[in-house]
Amino acid sequence: MLKLHLRKISTMPTSSVNYPQEFIQFLNSSPTPYHVVHNMKKHLQDHGFQELDERESWHGNVKKNSKYFVTRNNSSIIAFVVGGQWAPGNPIAITGAHTDSPVLKIKPISKRSSEQYAQIGVECYGGGIWHSWFDADLSIAGRVLVNDKASGKIISKLVDLKKPLLKIPTLAIHLDRDVNQKFEFNKETQLLPIAGLVKKSTSQSCCADKTDLKESEFLSVKSIIERHHKDLLDLVAKDISIKDVTEIEDFELILYDHKPSCLGGLHDEFIFSGRLDNLTSCFTSMHALTEAADTNIQDETGIRLLACFDHEEVGSSSAQGADSNFLPNIMERLTSLKCDGTDKTNPLGRNYLLESSAKSFFMSSDVAHGIHPNYSSKYESQHKPQLGGGPVIKINANQRYMTNSPGLVLVKKLADEAKVPLQLFVVANNSPCGSTIGPILASKTGIRTLDLGNPVLSMHSIRETGGSDDLELQINLFRKFFEKYSELEQNIIV
Ligand SMILES: [Zn+2]
Repeated sequence: MLKLHLRKISTMPTSSVNYPQEFIQFLNSSPTPYHVVHNMKKHLQDHGFQELDERESWHGNVKKNSKYFVTRNNSSIIAFVVGGQWAPGNPIAITGAHTDSPVLKIKPISKRSSEQYAQIGVECYGGGIWHSWFDADLSIAGRVLVNDKASGKIISKLVDLKKPLLKIPTLAIHLDRDVNQKFEFNKETQLLPIAGLVKKSTSQSCCADKTDLKESEFLSVKSIIERHHKDLLDLVAKDISIKDVTEIEDFELILYDHKPSCLGGLHDEFIFSGRLDNLTSCFTSMHALTEAADTNIQDETGIRLLACFDHEEVGSSSAQGADSNFLPNIMERLTSLKCDGTDKTNPLGRNYLLESSAKSFFMSSDVAHGIHPNYSSKYESQHKPQLGGGPVIKINANQRYMTNSPGLVLVKKLADEAKVPLQLFVVANNSPCGSTIGPILASKTGIRTLDLGNPVLSMHSIRETGGSDDLELQINLFRKFFEKYSELEQNIIV
């Protein structure tokens, strides 16, 4: 019933893209932030965006009427379209999201064995619902730095083992009769996955952990083979097509749920997946920007920009997090260049940056708490977002979310035009509240900001649930934002 009702409300033209199916492919090919950025780059390149490099001068390389992207650490990405009428000091319409999710990460020295099991030491990243990781079939993915002997350079390669390799087993109920009343565990000693049997599969790697070092060789850190199970390194080497595991210099590997993301529900109204927080917003921003990239771009006076950052789940303070200088630096470059194909710099560059910042707007997009039918008393009685009911505007008097009335007026105007239903959310006064990259970037840059996002259940579980219909609604809203912001901006000044 709800679905029919909502379908009636949203009378926007149906897109030729099957967003839920595309999103599921995106999720399944994006187990880590490195894969997210890789997939976003590919999508942007397919739509005519060119790559820029922070290590190089952009003089003469950034032109009006053109599309670009730039990455940092290969785990954060900023993409933008420069309008045909762009002038430094004009507004920038920004959507923002994060590429990371709570996850278990393989420790620098991961090799463990106990009771004849090979085990792998893992570190908790972010605030996951860790009990949801028990009994899931876990695989491994990440990036590996390889010593490429042919070029003499260290190169980075993506790895995704795509096999169920690990398990964090629960204890049988016979040995813990109270488990259904209370499930408690020690994150250091009991959230430790098993990876095989020492006798059968890892006898060599578990027991013979010394490499053949010549006496003259000195290693500042123990070799990779001493630190990790050799059988694991062999699988990684095979996946990235290198012959010798000693070519692996280091890596960042994380565990992920091997069960693929899928549609669910009686009418495919749900998406069942890990990492909905916040690949949902990466996906919607990416589609909205590429779809809006050419619309009236000749007449566009502003810049249309998306920014997806790593490390939100741990507070955003890193070289590539939302609290870094990544976005401010890109904005400074864009407002200091003439963008007319010459290598001229605006003499008033810094002033233009300040003007542009004051005229810009940041749609900080992160998933929201959809109403849970079995725990509805945990929600504020009049603010219960429905899955499938459209993007949720997040409001918090204590500034955990950045939405205020001018922002709300702006997004309402956009949503009215795009025929996208919006939902409102505040937490109950007796409930804790999360936060987003919105307050971080707003306080850093002074840019007007609004927090919104699509509703999900079980946020931070290994398997979350989202609404299929919400994807297209958010894409339509963001597309309208990119297309209309510079025109609307002049009418809402506070
Ligand atoms: Zn999030």
